[in-house]
Amino acid sequence: MAFIRVALYLHVPFCIKKCPYCDFYSLPHVPSSEEEKTYLKAVKTEVLYLKDFVEKLSGTALNITTFYAGGGTPSLLSPGFYQEFFEFLSSQFRFTPVELTLEANPDTITPEKLKGFVEAGFNRLSLGVQSLSEKGLKTLQRTYNLKTALKALENASSLFSNLSVDFIFGWKGQGLKTLKEEIKKALSFSPTHLSFYELTLEHEVSFSGFSPNKPVDLFYRFIEDTLESQGYVRYEISNYAKPGFECKHNLFYWEVKPYVGLGPSAVSRITNLRWQNPQDLKAYVETLLNQKKLPLTPLETLNPLEFAKEYVFMGLRLKKGIDLRTLSAKFGYYLDPWVLTNLIEKGLIERKGNRVSLTSQGRLFHNQVVKLLWKTMEKA
Ligand code: SF4
Repeated sequence: MAFIRVALYLHVPFCIKKCPYCDFYSLPHVPSSEEEKTYLKAVKTEVLYLKDFVEKLSGTALNITTFYAGGGTPSLLSPGFYQEFFEFLSSQFRFTPVELTLEANPDTITPEKLKGFVEAGFNRLSLGVQSLSEKGLKTLQRTYNLKTALKALENASSLFSNLSVDFIFGWKGQGLKTLKEEIKKALSFSPTHLSFYELTLEHEVSFSGFSPNKPVDLFYRFIEDTLESQGYVRYEISNYAKPGFECKHNLFYWEVKPYVGLGPSAVSRITNLRWQNPQDLKAYVETLLNQKKLPLTPLETLNPLEFAKEYVFMGLRLKKGIDLRTLSAKFGYYLDPWVLTNLIEKGLIERKGNRVSLTSQGRLFHNQVVKLLWKTMEKA
């Protein structure tokens, strides 16, 4: 049987407490070892159905090239959970991933636990510090203080040569001076990768830590200038990496390659078929253990236009942008040359041969540019 290369994601739906700005599915609950075992059983069951489902669907077997435990807070689970899970995956699939990432929160990792994660097989840690300012951590209502965040960075950087640090910016009271200090502290641990996510308007209603008057373009420019001067490349709108340390797993999403998600709320897409698990841990576990089939919710079939739109939306997040030949040959769509010229003249996009990408200015208007291009595709 032929193999299909996929990125495998595991969603871990537990957190110490729910952060006010978070849209990801998770419960404010630290699982007991019994609950961890039940979750492992459910996820293993999903793997068995997945194997059968994909083989019937595409006539191919899965070759898992990257693994990513995200959440929620995956570092709340024990290293033993992952050790057992990886052994199980090896028994079911071709499982020789080049990159295995664990998302971690600073107050859930000790040096011993980190060693356990390395022994289980993880070779990349994504540490969600979110801020390295005492005020920022309080405003974002994180569960740890600056000292804990710095200690976690110290421990993580001594065990993981591939370390990513996640930030949220644009919180109330954060100015460029604070941001500069935060970046300086992070860089002192020589991470290979940094992510900066903007606290967006959607959070304003429910979260008083949002600052409505923040100078977004100044923040973006400052982050880009500071990190690029230190040898990091802004390879994606929110992500910076030293060359060769781009997140291989997330590139599967941005390049519209096949991916499979396990756990509640996880999304999968193989060829033009997409499905999402229920955003409900109890329903996920009970359905899997009783129903014995996949998908857990109806399949969604992407038509060629939806697929092409996803390619444009995701691809324009990347520094390298999209390939117009791929858009026409693989997805059957073209971009209106007049609209492209207009966007080039406005300094929002640039074109090199068949590649189209956003300029630094254009990245501030990613959504608007994409919507404009979508309109021209809809008319085609
Ligand atoms: S710890 Fe992370 S996943 Fe959990 S609620 Fe907070 S932001 Fe969301």
